[in-house]
Amino acid sequence: MSKTVTVVGAGLAGCEAAWALANRGIAVRLVEMKPEHKSPAHHSDDFGELVCSNSLKAMRIDSAAGLLKAEMRQLGSLILQAAQETSVPAGGALAVDRALFSAYITEKIRSHPAISVEHARVEQIPDSPAIIATGPLTDGALAQAIAEKSGQDALSFFDAAAPIVTRESIDMDKAYLKSRYDRGDGDDYINCPMDEQTYTRFVTELLNAQTAPVHGFEENMLFEGCMPIESMARRGFQTLAFGPLKPIGLEDPRTGKMPFAVVQLRQDDASASMYNLVGFQTRLKFPEQKRVFSLIPGLENAQFVRYGVMHRNTYLRSPGFLNANYEVIACPGLYFAGQITGVEGYVESAASGLTAGIALAAALKGMPAPDFTAKTVIGGLGRYISAPHSRFDPMNANFSIVEPLPGRYKNKKLKYAAYAERSLAHISGMLLP
Ligand SMILES: Cc1cc2nc3c(=O)[nH]c(=O)nc-3n(C[C@H](O)[C@H](O)[C@H](O)COP(=O)(O)OP(=O)(O)OC[C@H]3O[C@@H](n4cnc5c(N)ncnc54)[C@H](O)[C@@H]3O)c2cc1C
Repeated sequence: MSKTVTVVGAGLAGCEAAWALANRGIAVRLVEMKPEHKSPAHHSDDFGELVCSNSLKAMRIDSAAGLLKAEMRQLGSLILQAAQETSVPAGGALAVDRALFSAYITEKIRSHPAISVEHARVEQIPDSPAIIATGPLTDGALAQAIAEKSGQDALSFFDAAAPIVTRESIDMDKAYLKSRYDRGDGDDYINCPMDEQTYTRFVTELLNAQTAPVHGFEENMLFEGCMPIESMARRGFQTLAFGPLKPIGLEDPRTGKMPFAVVQLRQDDASASMYNLVGFQTRLKFPEQKRVFSLIPGLENAQFVRYGVMHRNTYLRSPGFLNANYEVIACPGLYFAGQITGVEGYVESAASGLTAGIALAAALKGMPAPDFTAKTVIGGLGRYISAPHSRFDPMNANFSIVEPLPGRYKNKKLKYAAYAERSLAHISGMLLP
């Protein structure tokens, strides 16, 4: 094995992997096809681009998403460092200014003395040691080469992105500031309240709206966590009111009453000039988005900076092909990382890059392969993608992938605190490069 590692793709997983290797003294050649070639979901020239929401989910350590972040921080994550430096208010969640976030990552990667960046579209599987982190929209020659290497068809589902509107176009005489249950600063979200009549009209129009054709799309190829708002509405008239539009904890401060339903908007940039519609990923045609979403009180004259879109999202049948450190079982020294491995989400993608980077650094230094075990969320993800399943679906961070604790806990807070204590102690005790 040569000692320079090729990392393909400077997304969340690729940057995290390159950073983990470089900080362990390993030379990295990071190859990224932007800015010349961009997938349909990528717009920025910078690295670590967030293609849809600007939220990296919960920060509370008593949630699996929060514990994963704590684990990654302990392991020196670049993505979480960037998020901390560029965060915007978002209640109990970690949300970022997407442009500043990517600019921070790009600057750190470009200025690292052990990382050299090349801009090219990679069409073949590179020689080992290498990490392929080309994301869920990998296509063309490389996708074909990966399919041949893995001896399988890659799997696909569909993912959708939510629209973004300007802050100044939101009518604050109708909307109000508040976070659910007053978490965070208590007023981190803009809330558009609906009475029952307005909700009824909105759902009716949503169900009647025209959707954009998506090649090869079937409704059963949707991932639950990224379900378009119109698909969710088709499940039942009240589904949205119990889902993304649930009003609980969002009483209108002007009346003290809980509306029938509430559309929440989350700050999307540091200057608070843009807000995204939370949970409003959609495949409605653009004029239909303007027409239907303008029925939301406060958004009658909303200016759309970006409309929601839907894309195919591709991942490998990793069980039997990758081990829990994301290494190709039949090809030591070759790793995959990111959403393409079957982990789902920004932080989860970065976590797999961190695991692969640390594991490859260990191999190059002649150390034993790290075993994060299922006592940690980061290890639970690796176990999940490498273990046999009757049906292999993409996986978010959650406690079902973590080894149960011995004993019984009546108090959930205590139980999650025990998960966190066990996980962080396990990582502290590991022999890592
Ligand atoms: C439309 C859409 C919306 C999503 N929304 C969310 C969301 O709101 N929240 C969430 O948590 N997750 C979301 N995801 C899922 C997932 O978290 C993201 O896709 C995440 O960006 C995956 O990180 P990654 O590093 O694996 O891939 P990416 O971030 O996509 O990075 C891959 C990089 O590789 C480069 N590349 C690709 N092919 C080549 C090549 N042949 N040669 C060189 N470079 C190449 C790309 O330009 C890109 O920079 C969404 C996914 C999609 C597709």
